Amino acid sequence: MIDLSPVLSAARLAADLTRRVQRLHLNGSDKGGGHDPVTIADYGSQAILLRTISRAYPNDGVLAEESGEQFAALVDESQRAMIVRLVGDVIGEPVTEAELVTWLDWGRGRDSARMWVIDPVDGTKGFLAGRRYSIAIAPLENGIPAAGVLASPGYGSVDGLGLLFYAQGGLCLIEPISGGTARRAHVSKRSDPAEWRVVESVERAHAHLERMHNVYRALGVPQDHVESIDSQDKYAMIAAGDADLMLRLPRDQEYGHKIWDHAAGWSLVTTAGGTVTDVDGTPLDFSRGSELPNAGMIVTNGSAHDRVVAVVQGILSARE
Ligand code: AMP
Ligand code: MG
Repeated sequence: MIDLSPVLSAARLAADLTRRVQRLHLNGSDKGGGHDPVTIADYGSQAILLRTISRAYPNDGVLAEESGEQFAALVDESQRAMIVRLVGDVIGEPVTEAELVTWLDWGRGRDSARMWVIDPVDGTKGFLAGRRYSIAIAPLENGIPAAGVLASPGYGSVDGLGLLFYAQGGLCLIEPISGGTARRAHVSKRSDPAEWRVVESVERAHAHLERMHNVYRALGVPQDHVESIDSQDKYAMIAAGDADLMLRLPRDQEYGHKIWDHAAGWSLVTTAGGTVTDVDGTPLDFSRGSELPNAGMIVTNGSAHDRVVAVVQGILSARE
């Protein structure tokens, strides 16, 4: 078993950093044709997480969304200085820009038996809009997530600071990001789609929402049971029993789903008793580098998964 405690501490610090950045009303940059935003919170969070990986698991490889090269190219000098200072404030020690860049690229390109898959701010569009986002970490062993950690600052909690989810060895746990007692996460027992809560992407470009609504209708899920949520918080909601179904049906153009958008969530849901497959019911394949070969995702509480797959297949095969 991997000792996750360093990663849990780092995820808490990264969540603190993202909240501080959010309070400063920052602006995002774009790294891809006007639809791929990135903020200094993404870089700061990744630097904090990889600083910990470099110290706690120095021989491991990393597949992380952001890079030091992009940071230098996309972020102006004053914003770079700001995030260097904020990271230093959060970790409680002085930091230089060179250190931050070294952490950002730590483990990149190293092929190791264990690879850390990291999305420092999953749901950046949600983060920028003041909606939900999460910080996602999963160690891959032999191409399979051996654990998953998800910090969700926007997940309802008593103190308003969000929840930390982590899964390993058959146990999925939830505790406040600010610390406190852990409780066990388990998927819901709801097996009747008429009672299901469904979660889907906010962003219309990220999934074929019309086809997904046809599936909900065919299953008998009431329309007002569908909620739009950014990021892997959707997986966390299913793991916690707060939702029962999430679909990600492909739009017509091909898109390579990134493993950091799914590895931690996959670990939470499967450990908490749920099921995650591609749209044809086959498993997700995390063994091919940074992109999944899968066309999409079906995530359920495990009840009626086969029925959902059958309905999805019917709707996908009826498309023109
Ligand atoms: P969500 O909030 O569930 O839609 O997930 C956000 C993630 O969707 C982002 O981190 C992106 O990496 C990813 N994403 C971006 N474009 C697409 C796309 N065309 N199809 C599916 N996912 C995408
Ligand atoms: Mg993401």
